[in-house]
Formats: sequence, C-alpha cells, structure tokens
Amino acid sequence: MSDNCRPILYFPQPNFISLIRQSAESGELNVKGLDKDTVLHLTASHGENHSSVRALYLTVKSQLSPEQRQEAAKELVESLPNATARIVVFVAETEDLDSCLSAFLFPPNTNTPTETIIMSPPTSKLFHSRSILETDILKESSVGIIGLGSGGSQVAVEFAKAGVGKLVLVDYDRLELNNISRHACGLSDIGRLKTNALKDLLLNKNPQATIQTFELDINETTHNDYPAMKDSLRLCDLIIAATDTVQSRYNINTLSLELRITTIYGKCSTRAAGGEVLRVRPGSSACLACVYGTMQVTPDEAVSFERLRKVTPAYVPDSDVEAKIQVGLSSDITPISNMIVKLSLVELCRGKPSGISSLESELTSEFYRWANRREQEFKSYPEGGFDRFDKPAILRWYPVSFQPDPNCMTCSIGNILAVQGSSDDTTAETSDKVFFGTN
Ligand SMILES: [Zn+2]
Repeated sequence: MSDNCRPILYFPQPNFISLIRQSAESGELNVKGLDKDTVLHLTASHGENHSSVRALYLTVKSQLSPEQRQEAAKELVESLPNATARIVVFVAETEDLDSCLSAFLFPPNTNTPTETIIMSPPTSKLFHSRSILETDILKESSVGIIGLGSGGSQVAVEFAKAGVGKLVLVDYDRLELNNISRHACGLSDIGRLKTNALKDLLLNKNPQATIQTFELDINETTHNDYPAMKDSLRLCDLIIAATDTVQSRYNINTLSLELRITTIYGKCSTRAAGGEVLRVRPGSSACLACVYGTMQVTPDEAVSFERLRKVTPAYVPDSDVEAKIQVGLSSDITPISNMIVKLSLVELCRGKPSGISSLESELTSEFYRWANRREQEFKSYPEGGFDRFDKPAILRWYPVSFQPDPNCMTCSIGNILAVQGSSDDTTAETSDKVFFGTN
C-alpha cells in the first residue's frame, strides 16, 4: 500500500457495532484485503488476517475531539509493528455520541495518521426491493428446502435475496466437479457438504438469515437426526422438494401431508429438456401421489454419481453408473427454479402487503409444465410452435389443474371432499381428474 493510498473500509457484519460493544474495550480486528488492499473488509470475528494491514478497535465512552482521537489511536498502534499499515477504528459505546464509527489510517513507517473512508455496516433496509417486496416482509417466514442440487441451490439463493428469515436445508451430498457448472456454489467449495457450502453463500447474500442444516437422506427415516429435522420442518411455512429421485419425492409427500405444510415440488427431465412444478396444499388440493398416479412420470435428470450409486444395484459397475449422468444446462434449470420461487412467494406473502399479491389470482393451477427443447416427451410439439399460441411450444408454461384422486392411498382427500361435496350438491367426483389449461 502506498503512503497516499487511503483504503475504503467496509464492515460486512450487520451487527459489527454491537459485537464490538460486547467485546473488550480494545482489541484487534480481522482484515480481508481486496483489490490490492484498496478495499478492506473488517470483521469482529477472530481469524486469519488476509491482508498486510493490521486493524485495531477502541470503544469510546465519551465525546472525543479529532485531536483526542488521533492521540488515542497513536497510543494504540505503538503495540503493532511499524513496518505495516495500521488502522484504528473507533466505536462509540452509546448511540448518543457524535460519530458512531470512525477510523484513522497509519501508513507504513509513520505515526502520522489520516482519516479513512468508511462505508457503513449493512442494515436490513439495504436488502430488498422497495414497493415490490418491502423490507422485512418475509423476516418471520421460514422455508425448508430438501435437496440442494442445481435447482434447490438456485431457489435457496432467491429466498435469501428476498429476505426469507429462516431456512432449513436438508441434503447429504457433497459438491462434485460435475455439479459446478450448474450449482450456485463454485469451485472453491468442491468436496464440501452442500448444506455447509450453501449456508455460507446464503449468509453472504443475507447475513441476517437464520440457517439450519441437516446432513441426511430424506429416505432414511431411521437416521439419528431425522426426528430433529422433522421438528424443524414442522415449524416451516413452506417446504420445497428439490430432490432428484422419485422415491424421495414420494417420501416428502407423505411427510409434508403428515405435517400439513404446503409443499412445492420441482423436477427437470433428462438433460433438462423440460421440467415440472407441482404445488400441494394438504387438505385442499391433489397430493403428489394423486397427480403422478394419473399421468406419465417423466424420467428424472440424473446429475450426481453419489446419488446414482446409492440407488443402483451393487453389481452395476461404477463406469455404467457414470454413463447414466446426463446433465442439463443451468439456463434450462433456471425457469423451473424461477417458477418454484414465484409460487413460494405467493404462499409466503399471502395476507401481507406486497407488489406480488396479484400473482395469487394468476397462478391458480396446481401443476405447471415447461419445455426447453423439442425432444424426449416434448418431441411431438409442432415445429415453429413458439410463434403460435394454439399449439404447445417450447419456452412456455402450461398450467394443469388436478382434482384430488378419490382412490389415492396417500392423502385420501378425494374421498373426504366427495363426502363433503355430496351434502351441498357440489360433488368433487369427476371422471376427468385432469384439466389441461392451454395445451
Ligand atoms: Zn393424494
């Protein structure tokens, strides 16, 4: 750092001032130097210093003049080597003092300080879009996300950005090299549990979020942590099912019906040629078993060796398991994630003032299907259909309405509704359980 270069100081911790106030009267701060130390991130937590700059803090109990601050700073920096640049941050002990946060920089080999440029610690008001999703509207909301692959991670990041206050993350998998081109996390997270890597990413977007993680397979109900996970999901307003196997989705269906929590399922078909999103409101709409019992199940997109190995018989060699991995493009998964987020925000914002409330009367179907390309189950879509609205086409959402299946063994809602309906002559029994919207 040159003598005349004054770095900009940032305080990424939203509670930095209160953390300092709770600490000793003075001490050292952790420094992360960026852009050749022209930007410094100072945090109260202790850790490795990623900068040649050393920083100290001092809590101020009474009003000090600039000269008095300078003298106090000089006294403090004498404890540090003179060869490095040093910074002293003043934190006022109470709100009524003039300057809550100020700092002096001592360039290397001099005890003549200059005042630095400070960017205020972030507040929750900085995070959200005014007039669309007001600050704090989702602060008390909690969402459980089961499955943290490409889709689940994209959805989680959107929730953090929208200001959802609490997230419960469930996944047992680790980040593999073949995940990275589609996952929200990057190469620096290779080998980490997806729960931990994603938690760090989400806190980087919204440090005020509370994030709980469970490293378990949703299919393993005998896992030691399963009861605790279930208790955490029970307190959620919404569950997102973003796993990539049929069995896991059916197990989530059983669990969320038992917990009576609205659940949104998202899946991509092989190589993400398209995808589907289903919303299940226990007690009032068709469940996953009602829906997939009445229509062809599209083949899942297989994306993880670990997962495939687990569900493939032991006699199948690793090379054959590997060959089954057929990944899609991140941009083909994003429409599915985006629809999950839209449906989720409708659920979470119900009864609260927000700019998205009109979506409630638009997104009325239980099921939505999307095609990215005319292949596999979308192969029969007519060529050139994109320019016409009377034919199914790629890159367009198709809503599908479902009635609960009276014979569904999982939810039995169809029977309940039929009995209720017969008393006021608005029977829910119908031979056409599936109503296609626009295709
Ligand atoms: Zn059902």
